[in-house]
Amino acid sequence: RSADVLVAVATAAVMWYGAQLAMDGALSAGDLIVFLTYLKRGFRPLQEFAKYAGRLAKATAAGERIAELLEQTPEVRDVPGAVEAPPVGGAIEFVGVRFAYDAQHPAYDDLSLSIAPGQHVVIAGESGAGKSTLLSLLLRLYQQQSGEVRVDGVDIRRWTIASLRSQISVVLQDTVLFAGNVYDNIALGASDVSAEAIEAAARMANAHEFISMLPQGYDTILGERGVNLSQGQRQRIAIARAAVRNAPILLLDEPTVGLDEQNEQAVHAALRRLAAGRTSLLVSHDLRTAEDADLVVFLEGGRVGEQGTHADLLARGGQYSRLYHAQSARLNPTTTEQSHVVA
Ligand code: ADP
Repeated sequence: RSADVLVAVATAAVMWYGAQLAMDGALSAGDLIVFLTYLKRGFRPLQEFAKYAGRLAKATAAGERIAELLEQTPEVRDVPGAVEAPPVGGAIEFVGVRFAYDAQHPAYDDLSLSIAPGQHVVIAGESGAGKSTLLSLLLRLYQQQSGEVRVDGVDIRRWTIASLRSQISVVLQDTVLFAGNVYDNIALGASDVSAEAIEAAARMANAHEFISMLPQGYDTILGERGVNLSQGQRQRIAIARAAVRNAPILLLDEPTVGLDEQNEQAVHAALRRLAAGRTSLLVSHDLRTAEDADLVVFLEGGRVGEQGTHADLLARGGQYSRLYHAQSARLNPTTTEQSHVVA
């Protein structure tokens, strides 16, 4: 419990610090992706640390740990001779990838996976199966121990990290807003975007309507000192951000978790529009999202357990289909009960 409080406090501290950096222009768009990812990923060690630290560390110790996490320049760097990535088409391959976070946390032994340009792919599997790690390797937040991650057939290590990341948009489970107006929050990380382009992105993202109802519309200041948006509204801002960036590859990590039914649908509809014409990887444990995917990759314990369309996988009657039916039963208990009565 005290660990949860600590994590909450730490999250707030990190968000504040990140906002300062972004406002000072010290944080670039690429760094921002890393930063936002750390928000989610970086706290695993912190949580574990807290768990083992019997008596809970005082705020100072936590503060040091945060500083450490933030300063930890990712060990992944440009290799000598790395070149700018050309505009990519969006084919993605993992070829014989072996990766472990550390000796205690192996993620993949020998993972291979192939995604065609423009495909909408759902990465499914139970917690800990290695879904999010796929996105981290593609973003080069971590470096695999062996094997290759390729985009358009090229080992992504041949490109500079910044030029790779500039072609990838990310929407995570929760979105951080910065102290700035709505225009700035959407334009974030994209250069030279017109007000018209921002509004078009907001419309696409199902965000225009609520933005128009804010006290100063698009000029309304958001963030801690300004108007607080709901999680569903923040997710729509994130989608508008991604639309403005117009990157060919889109990574979505549980973007609708925690939303109520209505928001979930609005966000989903917007995500579907955003994904059109881009290669998109959606990490989700909710298998309903897999129903209309071009490809479902079902991970089990760090390997591809099954892959194919949702219909293929259901027809196989394997672990995926068992999980899907179990989830449907849990989501519609009344239907199951009724059919029970009828039967
Ligand atoms: P999923 O997204 O399917 O829940 P992850 O990709 O997050 O799975 O995790 C795969 C494995 O790697 C798990 O065993 C997890 O504990 C471990 N892992 C994930 N992130 C980290 C991290 N930052 N440090 C150490 N181990 C990690």
